[in-house]
Amino acid sequence: MYNIKEIIEKQRLFFEEGRTKDIDFRIEKLKILRRVIIENEQEIMEALKKDLNKADFESYETEVGLVLEEIKYTIRHLPNWAGRKRVKTPLTHFLSRSYMYSEPYGITLIMSPWNYPFQLTIAPLIGAIAAGNCSIIKPSEYSYHTSAVIDKLISENFDEYHIAVVKGGREVNKTLLEEKFDYIFFTGSVPVGKIVMEAASKHLTPVTLELGGKSPCIVDETANIDLAAKRIVWGKFLNAGQTCVAPDYLMVQSSVKDKLIHKMKEYITEFYGESPCNNVDYPKIINDKHFNRLLSLLKSGNIIFGGECNDKTNQISPTILDTVTWDSAIMQEEIFGPILPVLEFESLGEVISVVNKHPKPLALYLFTNDNEREKNVIKNIFFGGGCINDTIVHLATSYMPFGGVGDSGMGGYHGKASFDTFSHKKSILKKSNLLDIPLRYPPYKEHLKLLKKIMR
Ligand code: NAD
Repeated sequence: MYNIKEIIEKQRLFFEEGRTKDIDFRIEKLKILRRVIIENEQEIMEALKKDLNKADFESYETEVGLVLEEIKYTIRHLPNWAGRKRVKTPLTHFLSRSYMYSEPYGITLIMSPWNYPFQLTIAPLIGAIAAGNCSIIKPSEYSYHTSAVIDKLISENFDEYHIAVVKGGREVNKTLLEEKFDYIFFTGSVPVGKIVMEAASKHLTPVTLELGGKSPCIVDETANIDLAAKRIVWGKFLNAGQTCVAPDYLMVQSSVKDKLIHKMKEYITEFYGESPCNNVDYPKIINDKHFNRLLSLLKSGNIIFGGECNDKTNQISPTILDTVTWDSAIMQEEIFGPILPVLEFESLGEVISVVNKHPKPLALYLFTNDNEREKNVIKNIFFGGGCINDTIVHLATSYMPFGGVGDSGMGGYHGKASFDTFSHKKSILKKSNLLDIPLRYPPYKEHLKLLKKIMR
């Protein structure tokens, strides 16, 4: 249905005209994007409601609002980021100046998942526009309604030769990945990330991979247990656990386990009521496949809270699972749903050792009031990023890059990091013609002695 080759060809011709290199052009497009989102905020939130039953508050907080903030920040800083940067020049290059130019890659492919289907499509697009690229966006087929709104908003307000949306499933993805792009930005699962990287390697296309994994949440005996319980419940059950950086599992020091679980139960009831599956604001699981996968994971331990489900609405209530071990089925895959398995520990050393035996997580959360333990965890566990005494919120900022490491991905974005991700840094040394020091030219004679004095 889509003639992908033709879209790419049109984008390439447009890119070669050079209009996207103009900063005013980029700012104008970012302003249009911002206006279109504001004007269609309600339609976007309705689509998110249909796809995931997200409450308007959650949709604004984690999707629409986040993206608007990011556009505003980018517009404000873009002239500075995009300008030529003068850097120091070593003495060996006497009488020259060094500059770094940020230039767009060209045609970029942005592939996004279904869990935050608006934000995870538009946030990378902001970086791509800001850096002066053309983009083909491929949203997830599972978040059908949101993908349709994105398609409508983009096609009505942007030229296809600058930004195009391609919808569809596996076949469309395959066809897209056969083409040569200048950059691929992929957000999704680890297995599909590998497929994307393999396809990109055929064209030596650089990639950013924003993947997932099992993000630990650690609570030690010095933590403020009440606040920890509240913030863990919020972060875990936001979007019914379908968040890439959700606390996947809980590791709690034995001495505070009962107190923490007691408090978490209280907060779940306070936030979602006695019957979360009848709460109009409680999100649903995206589709039957994931719903059934999660139901089978409920058997991995002893349900000490929740465990109710509604197979008509695909909702599963916030659930806490006890008597779980590292061999349990739920510990073998990313949960991506509202089930929190609880493991106990005696010493922090155990935690560091066991987490490091597993793939590097996307996020890690530590609840503690002990500065030494905080330093120990940050220094000795590999993970993408995280919070001390909170969950999730480290990604909701334009001031720090967000991304994974190892199995949880490569590259980062948000704020300036998005601009940098979508820009090639072209380094230029400009030499003066006033003086030409003969040192580097053969015959070298005694030049080495002098060189050694300069280069040491
Ligand atoms: P997914 O990997 O199944 O799909 C992501 C995208 O890839 C979609 O556009 C989909 O259409 C496409 N795709 C699916 N199968 C494909 C194939 N065989 N070949 C080519 N393309 C294919 O991921 P998902 O289920 O949509 O999202 C959930 C995963 O995404 C979780 O692992 C989660 O942790 C991760 N995630 C990561 C982040 C992050 O920022 N790091 C954010 C959200 C989700």
